[in-house]
Amino acid sequence: MKIIIIGGGVSGLAISCKLAKEKIDNLLIEKRPFLGGRAYSFFDNDSKEEIDNGQHVIVGACKEFIHFLSEINSIEKISFEKKLRIPVLNKNKLVNLQSHNFPIKIIGKVFSILQYRHLKVRERMSLLKTLYKISKMKPKDFKELDNENFYDWLKNNNQSKNTIDCFWELFAIPALNDEIKNVSASIGIRLFQVAFIESDINANFAIPNVGLTKLLGDSAENFLKNTNTKIIKNQEIKSIVVKNDKISGVITKDDRKIKSDIVISTLPPNQILDIVPKNYQSYFKKSKEINMAPIVGIHLWFEKYFFDEKFMVVLGSPIQWIFNDSKIKNSNSSFQHIVISLSNAWEWKNKPKKVMKEIFLSEINKLFPKSKKSKLINFSVIKMFNATFRCQPGIQKIRPKNRTKIKGLYISGDWVESEWPSTMEAAVISAKNTILDIKRDFGNKL
Ligand SMILES: Cc1cc2nc3c(=O)[nH]c(=O)nc-3n(C[C@H](O)[C@H](O)[C@H](O)COP(=O)(O)OP(=O)(O)OC[C@H]3O[C@@H](n4cnc5c(N)ncnc54)[C@H](O)[C@@H]3O)c2cc1C
Repeated sequence: MKIIIIGGGVSGLAISCKLAKEKIDNLLIEKRPFLGGRAYSFFDNDSKEEIDNGQHVIVGACKEFIHFLSEINSIEKISFEKKLRIPVLNKNKLVNLQSHNFPIKIIGKVFSILQYRHLKVRERMSLLKTLYKISKMKPKDFKELDNENFYDWLKNNNQSKNTIDCFWELFAIPALNDEIKNVSASIGIRLFQVAFIESDINANFAIPNVGLTKLLGDSAENFLKNTNTKIIKNQEIKSIVVKNDKISGVITKDDRKIKSDIVISTLPPNQILDIVPKNYQSYFKKSKEINMAPIVGIHLWFEKYFFDEKFMVVLGSPIQWIFNDSKIKNSNSSFQHIVISLSNAWEWKNKPKKVMKEIFLSEINKLFPKSKKSKLINFSVIKMFNATFRCQPGIQKIRPKNRTKIKGLYISGDWVESEWPSTMEAAVISAKNTILDIKRDFGNKL
């Protein structure tokens, strides 16, 4: 029995690799000429360099994604920070949010908050109290808060505007790609619980030290060579074929039918309805309620080095997070390549490149005066309009399950039911859950 996987993003690749490991035949069909989905790198014509479609960062808590990287022999292509250290620049004052290596790990984190000088002492105490409250919350406690927004919940828990701006948003905006006023409290709370509190390594950053295609698409494809997986790229699926509520295959854009009793769609929420026949669309209509949000990446190449940190958060500036790509990728080029990652990027989505260049170069020059002595050599802007799905209040009630009402059809992807926001971790968790469902349904017929 052949399993067809539609889409070669992180979720599709994870399914394919996991099935291949168990010697289960599968066919992966990807619309574009390359694998990786929303996580890929490409040759940029402006700079003549290979760059990512967007800066991707994970934290130690992304256990399933990290395991997937190990499975495809790609774990060396990501660099793990030994501890949590985030330089935060606010009004010309640089403060490190940094955990310490105390024998009792949690004290290291408490200490990091106590030393976080962008907050007043009473704000630090109140922040610790709220983090403690979050650490004690059970799944049923935060699930009940799905309809509430995270901002109101924080306000109701005595978090000042300054604490929200300088602590909560610092993590929440990039991780959730939204303003926290628009985010479900349930997702927000779970994010901090799992990624910041639960264990010592969970909050530590890990950043790819190669382009995303080398990290994911190429490594997975290499792993799949000589296995029972067949990959077809550059082939779009026009429709799934359903007979009597049972899947029987897919139809390609060039009108070929490929038969199968098991089909997995890994399409994002804004595309799934494109492949569902009209008479079955009502099963998937909730996907229309899941919205997508943009991320914009700005790449700047300077003649000389002026920025030595690997990354930094800048508060009160249009620059949110800034990454030192040259240092992260251990480049031996004499130029410095800087990446500014703008989440919740509605404001920048339609701004012309020229305007963005003026704004961001002047901001860099203002914040890092040494940069004025370094000529800007190249400038690129990458706009991903549908980068991640939005975790708006009520989202957890509309995320679908992997198993659908059509027998033999499963859906997988970052937006399918899990506790995680739109991340590569969610995409791999969903892959794993899909395989479990298929095994439950088809058992030893596989
Ligand atoms: C700019 C940016 C920054 C991000 N930053 C981070 C980060 O820091 N950390 C993190 O964990 N995550 C981040 N993400 C999110 C992460 O990339 C996604 O959560 C993840 O890649 C989703 O994988 P997926 O397999 O669920 O979906 P997708 O990657 O969307 O995969 C779906 C695949 O289906 C293919 N497809 C679509 N239609 C068809 C069709 N009809 N026939 C065949 N194939 C089809 C698509 O081409 C695609 O390859 C970021 C995303 C972006 C865009």
